[in-house]
Amino acid sequence: MSKVNVTPTKTQEYFERYMHGVEKRNPGEPEFVQAVYEVASSIFPYIADKPIYHEMQILERMAEPERTVSFRVPWTDDSGNIRTNRGWRVQFNSAIGPYKGGLRFHPTVNQSILKFLGFEQTFKNSLTGLPMGGGKGGSNFNPKGKSDLEVMRFCQSFMTELSRHIGEDTDVPAGDIGVGGREIGYMFGQYKRINNRFVGVLTGKGMSYGGSKMRPEATGYGAVFFVRDMLQQAGDTIEGKTVIISGSGNVATHAAEKALQLGAKPITMSDSSGFIHCKDGFTQEQIEWIQVLKDVRRGRISEAADEFSNISFHADSRPWGVPGDIAIPSATQNEVNAEDAASLIANGVKLVAEAANMPCELAAVQAFNAAGVMFGPAKAVNAGGVGVSGLEMSQNSARMAWDEAHLATLLEGMMKTIHDSCVQYGTGPNGKVNYLEGANIAGFVRVAEAMLSYGHV
Ligand code: NDP
Repeated sequence: MSKVNVTPTKTQEYFERYMHGVEKRNPGEPEFVQAVYEVASSIFPYIADKPIYHEMQILERMAEPERTVSFRVPWTDDSGNIRTNRGWRVQFNSAIGPYKGGLRFHPTVNQSILKFLGFEQTFKNSLTGLPMGGGKGGSNFNPKGKSDLEVMRFCQSFMTELSRHIGEDTDVPAGDIGVGGREIGYMFGQYKRINNRFVGVLTGKGMSYGGSKMRPEATGYGAVFFVRDMLQQAGDTIEGKTVIISGSGNVATHAAEKALQLGAKPITMSDSSGFIHCKDGFTQEQIEWIQVLKDVRRGRISEAADEFSNISFHADSRPWGVPGDIAIPSATQNEVNAEDAASLIANGVKLVAEAANMPCELAAVQAFNAAGVMFGPAKAVNAGGVGVSGLEMSQNSARMAWDEAHLATLLEGMMKTIHDSCVQYGTGPNGKVNYLEGANIAGFVRVAEAMLSYGHV
C-alpha cells in the first residue's frame, strides 16, 4: 500500500513511477501513453492529499481497459476478391454506465489509438453528467474509394462479430471518423437482423429509425457553445471573432455553422489534401455546399475553391499559419504541433478549443499555456456529441422522440454545466482557469467515486 506524502517532490516521484509502469505495460502504444500522461499529470497533484485513491489503486485500474476485443472482419469487394481487415472494441470503463463511444474506420486505426480514445472517452462521458462509461472501437478499413455495396458488406461483417459484445445496457457504440449515417444504418440493420430486437444499441441513427434530432450538429455546435462560455468567463465575446477551423467533416462543418450563427467569422476548413481559406468568412450556403461535398459526394476540399471565387485552396498544408482570433482543430489527433502552436501564437490567436480528439500535441498545449492563450481540452469541448448520444439512448429507452428545440436547450445547458465544472476544479490562485486540469479532475472524480464504491473490481 503506498504511503502518501503531500510534498510536490513526492507527488512528482509517484507520477513518474506510475508513468514508467504505464509505458512498460503498453509497448508500442504512444498515443495511449500520451493520453494517460496528460490526464495523470492533472490528477496526481489533486490526489496528493487523498490517500484513499492511492490505496485503492484507482489510477492504475483506470489505465487498464476492462476488456479489449480484437477480431477478423472478412468481406468481399466488387471484383469478388476476399479482403480481411481487423476490428476492435475497447471496453474501457463501465463504472458509471454502459460503455459508450464511437467507431472509427480509417487506415491509421490501431489498438493504441483506440485505447487512447476509450480512455479519454471515460472522462468525457463523466463530464456530461449522464450515466455512460467509456469505450471506443473501429477498424483499419478505409471507406474512401469503396462503393456503397462494399461499405455495406464490410459494415455487415463488422457487426456480425461486434454484435456479440454490445447491447443497449452493455455497450452502445456511435460514429466517429469514417463512420457516419450511412455506416450506422448498415450496422444497425445488421444488428437488428441478427438479434431480432429493435433496441438503441447504436447512436447517431437516422431519424426514421430511432435517431435523435440535434445529434449530427451536437459536437460542432457544442464546441462553439463552449468557446462562447470560455470567452464570457474571461469577459469577452465570440461576436466578430475570426475562427480558424481544420477538418471538413461532421464536427468541422457544424462548428463553422454555429460560429457563423453566433456572429463569428469562420475562415478556414481542411481535409487530408490541404486547406481552404475564405477571407470574407464562409456563408451558410458555402458551409452547406461543403457538407454535401464531403458527406454525400465524398469529394476533395479543393473543389470548394473551384466552385467559389472567394475561396482559395492550399495543397498539403494545415490552416495554422492563417491569422485569426480562435482556432478550433476539428480533424484528427496530433494535427497541431509545437511549430503550429508558435505560428498561431505569433498570429495573435486568443483561444484554442479542441473539437477533434487530442488534436494538439503536448508541446503545443504547453506553448499555449506559456503564452497565456486560453485552451479548451477535447474531453470538455467536444462532449456535446456524446451528450446528445446519451439523450438518444434515453429517448430510445422511453420509446419517445423529443423535438429539436428541447434538445438544443439541453445541449446548450449541458455545455454550460461542463464549462462550470471546469471552472470549479480548474481555477488557480490567480483566478485564471486551467480548463485542462479542470476537465481532467471533474471527469475523474465521478468515475473514481463509483470505483471506490465497488471495492476491488
Ligand atoms: P469525419 O470523418 O466526418 O471528418 C474528419 C475530417 O478530418 C475530414 O475532413 C478528414 O479529411 C479530416 N481528416 C481525418 N484524418 C485526417 C488526417 N490524418 N489528416 C488530415 N485530415 C484528416 O469525422 P468527424 O468530424 O466526426 O470527427 C473529427 C474529429 O472529431 C475526430 O477526432 C473525432 O474523434 C472527433 N469527435 C467526433 C465526434 C462526432 O460526433 N462526430 C464526437 C467527438 C469527437 P478527409 O476527408 O480527407 O479524410
